[in-house]
Amino acid sequence: MFTPGQFKRFDRTIWLASPTMHGEEIKYVREAYETNWMSTVGENINQVEALIAGKVGCKYAVALSAGTAALHLAIKLAGEKLYGKSDVGKGSLFGKHVACSDMTFDATVNPVVYEGGIPVFIDTEYDTWNMDPVALDKALELYPDIRLLVVAHLYGTPGKIGELRNVCDKHGVLIVEDAAESLGATYKGRQTGTFGDYSAISFNGNKIITGSAGGMFLTDSIEDADKVRKWSTQARENAPWYQHEELGFNYRMSNVIAGVVRGQIPYLDEHIAQKKTIYERYKEGLKDLPVSMNPFDRDSSEPNFWLSCLIIDREHMCKQVRGDSEYLYSPESGKSCPMEILDAIDSINAQGRPIWKPMHMQPIYRMNPFITREGNGRAKTNAYISGGALGQDGNPLDVGMDIFHRGLCLPSDNKMTVEEQKVIIDIIKACFD
Ligand SMILES: *Cc1c(COP(=O)(O)O)cnc(C)c1O
Repeated sequence: MFTPGQFKRFDRTIWLASPTMHGEEIKYVREAYETNWMSTVGENINQVEALIAGKVGCKYAVALSAGTAALHLAIKLAGEKLYGKSDVGKGSLFGKHVACSDMTFDATVNPVVYEGGIPVFIDTEYDTWNMDPVALDKALELYPDIRLLVVAHLYGTPGKIGELRNVCDKHGVLIVEDAAESLGATYKGRQTGTFGDYSAISFNGNKIITGSAGGMFLTDSIEDADKVRKWSTQARENAPWYQHEELGFNYRMSNVIAGVVRGQIPYLDEHIAQKKTIYERYKEGLKDLPVSMNPFDRDSSEPNFWLSCLIIDREHMCKQVRGDSEYLYSPESGKSCPMEILDAIDSINAQGRPIWKPMHMQPIYRMNPFITREGNGRAKTNAYISGGALGQDGNPLDVGMDIFHRGLCLPSDNKMTVEEQKVIIDIIKACFD
């Protein structure tokens, strides 16, 4: 049980994950300024596209204003490939079911709705905290019209992308891969961002490297890269005037932002190494507590360790309830809960975060289908809330809700010192006293 005031507040905030600059960024930004390439054209853009394609191991990268923009155009492209060109004002997925990650940031799935699609949420597995291939298989049986999957790698840990791909191939389903959080992570030696028919990454301010904003569409197809570049610059046709045959977007990356990304790219591996050390220190420091770290498959994958997270053993959870915006828990000796640990961390001026609240639990998506390993998850979810219904394997039937209930993200900033991290570990221990 944690008592407020027991620990001294840090003088500076320890962030969940904040930008880490190295000096070259400002050089490239200044170069853009001094040569007057202050627009969405310029050498920084050309360079970051080449550097990321080389690093990830894909043929083409298209620099865009955000990861969300990259996902949007990837999903639109998939929609047009599958269902043909859509009428203006009617999304390329109009009225179509699309299988989507459930426990993720809403930016993974919102673009499906921008394109008029209906997300069908697929439950999570415990091994990597990503999409469960068994639940996906079930969903594709229940919704045989599904032809597209949008799948994320959470917190920098590759999901079971090989198994998901096998399930998709069996049912003739295309994949949009959301590698926004997992740049630099590998699965069976291959970088995430190369597993989708279309893939996206992000350079948002809290990601492993950043441009302050920005994202990229990744592909091996020159036609797809050209199409996305065209759509991202208002879909101009080749004519002396502004000629438009299809709907365009203002989604291109700025050459100034690209300067920041360009300065960051050489430090990607260093950031990953720092994040890995943070993860390992937490793992060691918390080993005597009834908690475990966010898991990954050591045989097949190497995460980028973007965020360190923990999950509390079921028998060591104190009572905790969360509504739409408020929460309550009752502290208990020998037990704790995510909200108590987050309050404790917050009291010393450090920043943690709850696990991404699953999409099927979000008011905006309350009417969408949700599929677990055992079928229609909606009915099962209600059973879990009211009584804790368990599946055949003894786990709750709604895995995403269970991880959200018992898990949290820890301060994972690569500028956090060993001493600062030790205090955070100590305060987590105090929560279980
Ligand atoms: C950050 C993030 C995005 C969106 O990227 P932006 O660059 O912020 O638009 C999409 N999906 C996931 C899983 C993310 O974490």
